[in-house]
Amino acid sequence: MSSCIFCKIANKEIPGKIVYEDDFCLAFLDLSQVTPGHTLVIPKAHVKNILEADPALAGHLFEVVTKLSQKIVKSLGASGCNILSNANEIAGQSVMHFHVHIIPRYDGNKDGFQMHFANNEGKFNLDDIQAKIIA
Ligand code: 5GP
Ligand code: ZN
Repeated sequence: MSSCIFCKIANKEIPGKIVYEDDFCLAFLDLSQVTPGHTLVIPKAHVKNILEADPALAGHLFEVVTKLSQKIVKSLGASGCNILSNANEIAGQSVMHFHVHIIPRYDGNKDGFQMHFANNEGKFNLDDIQAKIIA
């Protein structure tokens, strides 16, 4: 028996509010509901995060994320969504089983979610960064 909480949900050892399931993936409502409909999409097999995932499995997972985000936004009357996957503690990952957050966004008082991107334009050498990535 696994000690991983998301493995337990995938194995139906503990309940989850499941909104989608296939042979490889499961999607269920996040307990915290950052906004109504906040959903987690996970692979059924345990893998720590996207940095350790098989790209083919992650590809299927993102196909599910795409279909489900469209369905969630439409069915709940949201105006948009954020898609987020935290990898490792430095990025805020608290459950060490790969998951993608679908966070529907709403006009008005159902939505208090905030995400801030600093503008560091001019601070870093983009040529160096590009060269390292494509090397
Ligand atoms: P992370 O911070 O790792 O990106 O996100 C983990 C998410 O899992 C959090 O949003 C948290 O609310 C959710 N979570 C943690 N434990 C459970 C659980 O037992 N059931 C459900 N449905 N969500 C959980
Ligand atoms: Zn797990």
